[in-house]
Amino acid sequence: MLLIKDIPVLQAYLASRSNAGESIGFVPTMGALHEGHFSLVETALSANACTVCSIFVNPTQFNDPADFEKYPITLDTDIRGLERAGCSVLFLPTASSLYPVGTVGLETYDLGFLDTVFEGPNRPGHFQGVCQVMRRLLEAVEPQNLYMGQKDYQQCMVVSRLLEIMGSSVRLYTCPTLREADGLAMSSRNRRLSEAGREKANGIYQALSLIKNELKAGPVEPVLSRGRALLEEKGFQPEYLSLADASRLEPVNVWDGKQPLVALAAAFLEGVRLIDNMTMN
Ligand code: AMP
Repeated sequence: MLLIKDIPVLQAYLASRSNAGESIGFVPTMGALHEGHFSLVETALSANACTVCSIFVNPTQFNDPADFEKYPITLDTDIRGLERAGCSVLFLPTASSLYPVGTVGLETYDLGFLDTVFEGPNRPGHFQGVCQVMRRLLEAVEPQNLYMGQKDYQQCMVVSRLLEIMGSSVRLYTCPTLREADGLAMSSRNRRLSEAGREKANGIYQALSLIKNELKAGPVEPVLSRGRALLEEKGFQPEYLSLADASRLEPVNVWDGKQPLVALAAAFLEGVRLIDNMTMN
């Protein structure tokens, strides 16, 4: 695996691969890699001659500075894991190469309705930061194929919108969420939980599963309240637990029994903000 920090060096190398007719697959991450990240790398490797993984903890997408400060960094282990996985290139940009004039007063993106629900209002500025970094990473890597996780359902929709705004031909693949044996969605943030917290952390998965099992046509609030109660019993402070149209993300209050839905949750446990989602059909 090549480890490249410099954007012109990366571009020269990737141009040589593209000119040889090879396709470039890209997996952007913030590091502290787990099996979920590696599953994206494996999917990219299976379909592209050259797979680039990036690790960059993007300051502009953290609305909470303490969350940025505490974001886990495990670079040596990440490098070994990516080597083992057979990743072609690890791109490790610096903040000053991606944001040469700093991070104040950056461009904004019209995300419309998508920025007004769920993660949007709960993490002001988060999706603008995601778009700011993704545009820069995509311009540096110029992949044909992009691999992201369904774990961040709304983020995938935001990046799809960004690709549209950019007029990009990059194909976005949304890959399934990898879970621990007890259902907890793998996440870099899970390592901030205590042992006791970790044991209760699958409450989000259980709440989403309860909704999936008990959902009936008609008003959805009763099943959502049971899901919230389960989260609270497990010691979570729920931020949202809602049902939405699976392709537009508009919240759904009354289900017709047919419309494809996704249940989305964000909740704090021991001060750690965890998110997850589950499609209902
Ligand atoms: P992050 O490092 O958290 O920014 O995540 C990088 C990419 O990995 C994003 O596209 C995430 O959606 C994806 N990802 C994170 N957790 C999982 C998971 N448990 N299963 C599959 N993909 C994941």
